[in-house]
Parts: sequence; C-alpha cells; structure tokens
Amino acid sequence: MKAMILEKPGTSLRLIERPDPQPGPGQVQVKIMACGVCRTDLHVVDGDLTEPRLPIIPGHEIVGSVSALGEGVEGFGIGDRIGIPWLGHTCGCCSYCRSGAENLCDAPGFTGYQIDGGYADVTVADARFCFPLRGDLSDAELAPLLCAGLIGYRSLVMAGVASKRLGIYGFGAAAHIVAQVACYQQRDFYAFTGPGDAAAQRFALELGAAWAGGSDQTAPVELDAAIIFAPVGPLVPAALRAVRKGGIVVCGGIHMSDIPSFPYHILWGERVLRSVANLTRQDAIDFLELAPKVPVQTRIEEFPLEQANQALHALRSGQLTGAAVLRPC
Ligand SMILES: [Zn+2]
Ligand SMILES: [Zn+2]
Repeated sequence: MKAMILEKPGTSLRLIERPDPQPGPGQVQVKIMACGVCRTDLHVVDGDLTEPRLPIIPGHEIVGSVSALGEGVEGFGIGDRIGIPWLGHTCGCCSYCRSGAENLCDAPGFTGYQIDGGYADVTVADARFCFPLRGDLSDAELAPLLCAGLIGYRSLVMAGVASKRLGIYGFGAAAHIVAQVACYQQRDFYAFTGPGDAAAQRFALELGAAWAGGSDQTAPVELDAAIIFAPVGPLVPAALRAVRKGGIVVCGGIHMSDIPSFPYHILWGERVLRSVANLTRQDAIDFLELAPKVPVQTRIEEFPLEQANQALHALRSGQLTGAAVLRPC
C-alpha cells in the first residue's frame, strides 16, 4: 500500500509504502477510491487536537470497495461500495454507549486520529462502523458526505426541527451540504462567510440562501437557530446576538479558537448554546437515507493522494469552495 503519513504534528505528511494491512476478525479490507479532506484532519496535522496515535494516516471520509473480509464479518461482500467515517470504534459498554450516545463514548477510536485512515490506497476497518454506499454519486462526490455531511446533519438536527430561519456561519464543505438539506426541509438559510469572501457568498446564493454576507454583518431577520462550522470563537457571541429568544446556537466543529467573554443578556431569554461531538451510527443511517432524496450534490476539488499536503494547505488558507477529495491513482 501507499499512504501519506503524519509522523509529528506541525510537519508535512510523508509518502510511504508498506505491505497491505490484512483484516483481523470483524474487519474489512477496503481498496480506497476516494477520501475527503476534512477540517478535522487539519486540526490533527496542525496539532490542535492533541491525542493522535503517531505515526498516523489521516482521513475519515473514506469511500472504497471491499477487497477482503476478516473472520465473522456479516453484511458486506467483496466488491461492495463502502463508507468509513470518523467513528471507528466504541467500547460498547460505557454509560454513553449503553444509552444511545455512542458519539460520547469514554474509550472511542477515531479514524485518521487513533486508527489509520484514508490518505492511502488500502485500509482496514471495523465492519460494524462502516456503511454500504448506494446511489448515483461518484466515489469522490460521496466522500464529503461521510463527515461534512454526517456532522452537518447532526448539527442541523440539534438546531431543532422548528427552526425555520437558520444561520450558517462558515460556508465550506459541511455548510454546502447542510444548506441543501435545509432547503429540502423548507427552511430558509442565511449564510455568514468570512468578511468579504464574495466567492463563498455567491456559492451560498447559488444553493438557495435567503441572504449571504460577511460574519461582520447583521442578518436581515432574527434567526431561530444558527450553526457555526468555522473554527472561530468570536462567532459564538455573534451568533447568540443573531438568534431570537429561545433560539439555539450549535457549534459543529471539533476545535475552535477561544470564545471571547460576552454579556449575559445575549444568552438570556432561554437561548441555548451547545456543541456537537462526533456521530452515532444511527446519524449515518438516517443521513445516508435522506441524502439521495434531497438529492444532496457535492462540490468537490480532486487532488491526487500524493498532493495531500497541497489539499490541506488549500483548506487551511481558505482557497476551496466546497470540499477537497484525495484520489489514489
Ligand atoms: Zn463507550
Ligand atoms: Zn471530519
């Protein structure tokens, strides 16, 4: 196999070759067709997330085809198209796992963080945490659904079914998928981009935004809820100021810069501020069933696997509209 590997946070990924991993009991071996580049990968590579198993192969938006089955695997056959997400393993016995909140498991394993991920041409994964992928989208188009889509969808659910006027802060991979689901659910969405990011604002309007502007601007209406995807702490008080009494602000990212202090009155009025962490398998089942009905389309920019560092740089510097996807050649 070949892979782009992280040896030390803050350094570039390095191309390596080594023997293909073989599937253990309960695992599938997967020939990788595409792997999305998520902002979380950037946080791992840059060292914002401090518990990687090193060295690690990043990547947790994996689309591939099953190439071998470990002992006892059920539900998948050779050649099946399969998706491997961020949640790679849970303990199955902690209070969270037992209460339907496996996303909060006390002893989880995350793909591309503690478990080798998809910046490679072959991987192995615990079959119980993988999903069959059907439908018309290409492998590369499907990849962003595996995290941007899933976490975006969980964030949208947490924003409340009754939230008709929805603010979205940070208009990247997750936002462009959530926006399509919001439209399908007949919600209006208001897109807040980096100040002056005309390309992202145009993209939001193309996807049906009721309004698009900079995060330094005021929304034209009072919002019922807001989802923050940009890893920018000062957006928290900005979003709290934008939502009505009883409104909900959801932080959808895994890492954020510090949140500045703010006056209590912008939280007062039973406004709710919450984060979303990881995903459950049920989120994936629900979202992957919903996506073809919308139907969710993704805007992607493809990079060869060997250019993973360039793809990460493009994401870090805000050069992407949509999602970067790596393709092993
Ligand atoms: Zn657990
Ligand atoms: Zn992700």
